[in-house]
Amino acid sequence: MSRIEFKNVCKRYAEGLPLTIHNANLTIEDGEFCVFVGPSGCGKSTLLRMVAGLEDISSGDLSIGGERVNDLAPARRGVAMVFQSYALYPHMTVRENMGFGLKVFGANAADIDKKVREAAEILQLTHLLDRLPKALSGGQRQRVAIGRAIVKEPRVFLFDEPLSNLDAALRVQTRLEIAKLHHRIGTASMIYVTHDQVEAMTLADKIVLLRAGEDVQTKGSIAQVGSPLTLYHRPASLFVAEFIGSPKMNILEGTLEQANAMTSQLRVHGTPFEAAVNATRLAAGASVSVGIRPEDMRLAAGPGANVLSGHIEHIEKLGEASLLYLNTPASTQLVTVKVEGTTAQRTGETVHVQCPTESLHVFDAEGDACHRTPELPA
Ligand code: ADP
Ligand code: MG
Repeated sequence: MSRIEFKNVCKRYAEGLPLTIHNANLTIEDGEFCVFVGPSGCGKSTLLRMVAGLEDISSGDLSIGGERVNDLAPARRGVAMVFQSYALYPHMTVRENMGFGLKVFGANAADIDKKVREAAEILQLTHLLDRLPKALSGGQRQRVAIGRAIVKEPRVFLFDEPLSNLDAALRVQTRLEIAKLHHRIGTASMIYVTHDQVEAMTLADKIVLLRAGEDVQTKGSIAQVGSPLTLYHRPASLFVAEFIGSPKMNILEGTLEQANAMTSQLRVHGTPFEAAVNATRLAAGASVSVGIRPEDMRLAAGPGANVLSGHIEHIEKLGEASLLYLNTPASTQLVTVKVEGTTAQRTGETVHVQCPTESLHVFDAEGDACHRTPELPA
């Protein structure tokens, strides 16, 4: 009933402008928690607003529960949206704010009261029902905004960066509440927009990563769709690889020497590297980008195969881990190495880091990934 389908959905805000959304093809299943991520301006809010009916669809089909909704009025879509700005009515109490949407639709007072009390219970707002928004904290206001969505019993919940205005501790707490809410309201689908990596990784059943810029016009808006761990372990392209994960994946310049179905022999600034990827579609001698995540690197005793050497330019001590930033001729950018605990290394020292065969990613000159051959969590 709440399955959402985008078929070749495009959005052009005005004649003469490039497409903001290009060929979005996507299915969000009943009860699925889908997170949209992507660079600022890539069209996350635009997509959400098209589902809500607040924005026209230029071409393609959007359906909810099997019904084409392109031309269906927002109020008839069974959709509730929660914004970054809570958009509460300042002169109404929490109770009135939460019940307002139902009242407008002509629900009877007893029904409204019952639904408001149930939602307040879920969100721990019961003791605040008679307060005005100005007497609430930011986190409480956002819970009221979520409560207002819950009482509508929508088949689809839309969240547009709902936690961005909250401080770090409240973000974590509200994130957990949203996860619990999703389990509790199992049948409604959720689309959640965020630029927060941790929110995306922890909340999503499915992540949709959107492209921005020129690539949208040639390749389409959607860069990859998959579970959080699929995007983390098997990014389809350099763009996805560098977007998912924090600190971001390091990219080294390499050349392919030879490849079989299981492993590839590479050279990275003169050093032999073996990668557990299938690069047989590429010619020997091809230039490749070799990816390795900071958390997959280990300090090594000295140079050797699969070892990268560099000077430490900067160190960040985070307590539970330290980040070493290395200057190395193998990369145009500083290479980040994450080591556990507080490192004994110092700025200016030369270090050697092991880049394990099973942890390497290889991308061709177009930025498309070669298949990683190890069995990986999905
Ligand atoms: P995101 O939410 O991913 O940051 P948006 O969906 O808000 O991105 O915007 C996507 C692009 O569409 C941006 O380049 C933005 O400037 C443009 N855009 C958004 N709304 C309008 C509008 N009403 N008219 C013209 N362009 C718009
Ligand atoms: Mg936005």
